[in-house]
Amino acid sequence: MGKVAVAFAAVAVVAACSVAAMMVGRRMKSRRKWRTVVEILKELEDDCDTPVARLRQVVDAMAVEMHAGLASEGGSKLKMLLTFVDVLPTGREKGTYYALHLGGTYFRILRVHLGAQRSYLDVQDVERHPIPSHLMNSTSEVLFNFLAFSLERFIEKEENVSNSLGVKRELAFTFSFPVKHTSISSGVLIKWTKGFEISEMVGKDIAECLQDALDRRGLNMHVAALVNDTVGALSLGYYHDPDTVVAVVFGTGSNACYLERTDAIIKCQGLLTTSGSMVVNMEWGNFWSSHLPRTSYDIDLDAESSNSNDMGFEKMISGMYLGDIVRRVILRMSQESDVFGPTTSVLSEPYVLSTNSVSAMHEDDTPELQDVTRILKDLGVSDVPLKVRKLVVKICDVVTRRAGRLAAAGIAGILKKIGRDGSGGITSGRSRSEIQMQKRTVVAVEGGLYMNYIMFREYMEEALVEILGEEVSQYVVVKAMEDGSSIGSALLVASLQS
Ligand code: ADP
Ligand code: MG
Repeated sequence: MGKVAVAFAAVAVVAACSVAAMMVGRRMKSRRKWRTVVEILKELEDDCDTPVARLRQVVDAMAVEMHAGLASEGGSKLKMLLTFVDVLPTGREKGTYYALHLGGTYFRILRVHLGAQRSYLDVQDVERHPIPSHLMNSTSEVLFNFLAFSLERFIEKEENVSNSLGVKRELAFTFSFPVKHTSISSGVLIKWTKGFEISEMVGKDIAECLQDALDRRGLNMHVAALVNDTVGALSLGYYHDPDTVVAVVFGTGSNACYLERTDAIIKCQGLLTTSGSMVVNMEWGNFWSSHLPRTSYDIDLDAESSNSNDMGFEKMISGMYLGDIVRRVILRMSQESDVFGPTTSVLSEPYVLSTNSVSAMHEDDTPELQDVTRILKDLGVSDVPLKVRKLVVKICDVVTRRAGRLAAAGIAGILKKIGRDGSGGITSGRSRSEIQMQKRTVVAVEGGLYMNYIMFREYMEEALVEILGEEVSQYVVVKAMEDGSSIGSALLVASLQS
């Protein structure tokens, strides 16, 4: 070999070595980056862990807080609000009634026609529209004028308008925010939740605001009841099955109510009702316990929300927030590694990832996870390999599994408080034979998250059995109540008339 050839070969070897070294370096760097995201995922899994022992601590904390909230005003983060609903619909109601429901994302209007028998419940013309976002921080007048206008349009579409002219229509106003009631048909707003911010309305009588707006439009309608959405769901549950004593909503937000003995509502001594009980609106979204598994993402989400230090439980389990928890995990992974490519400005935008998208990714059953690809693309993340898409699915799973299991612990907490969890409540233990006497208990559940996100629902129901045990679980029936809050509120108004 000549000198030139030797030199050439040497250069080639050096070049090959440096290319190889570069490739090895790059691979090592990429492996390190992958290790970073795996560590972030592991940390998330650990921080979200909900073994049954921990869930039982949450169950106990919920029952204890319920007691405290019933004992004195401000005794707990659980407000345990009186609803003045002491009698629930029986199935014998008759007539035509209306409901207007202001939720967190949607407002709904419907009419029910009742024929004095349970089987004659005819739900008519259910309208559901997204709440225009500008209304959420407008003024009381703008919001209620809009609701009155929507009701007017609904009524104009009725077939027999001429027949019903002159007849006052009885309306239930289902209002999914905390209200301090003074009667079944009046109450003042305590605070806004779920992103609503019309501060001048706090302290105002909500039913009166709606009635005034209806009167201004000349609508011949009477706001006969102001009903929390959970109470609506309970009413529909009870109408169909009188063993229904608890109702829970998992929608944009989350809340629960249940039927309580009046003598257990210690903060209102001397409270008399015909039935000896009253529905209590727990406002459980504000529940807090040190046993709740909290992550750094929850802390940041709370700090940056419009209601920080408030609604801690709701922020872990409800539809408004699950998407944002997942987004925060992906954002951190994207900042600390390059597996998602360069961090996009879209990904940094709060609430840009909805819980609907989380469920679509979580339940993506295409072999290549095409739905995940599509949703990540909307977040400005494209061309990520399959293993990264699988990682995203795993994040959705961890966040939703925690939500479903904590939701179950909340329900079991209520069952414990009313002695329907097989343990004999929070003070006494009961024998096995007494457990056999356990009463059948129906829990009415509704809300978009529960109705549509199958994995959330499955995790919740699975955990409830885990907490209660197979034996007691046989007595606890979870029943889905589609549109329960609106329909049930109309039934409640009907029961007031009969
Ligand atoms: P509102 O809270 O206004 O009463 P819903 O009870 O219908 O309305 O709940 C709507 C919320 O439920 C949505 O904002 C979303 O968070 C959640 N949701 C609805 N559909 C799905 C779905 N397919 N997957 C996951 N979450 C969903
Ligand atoms: Mg709702």
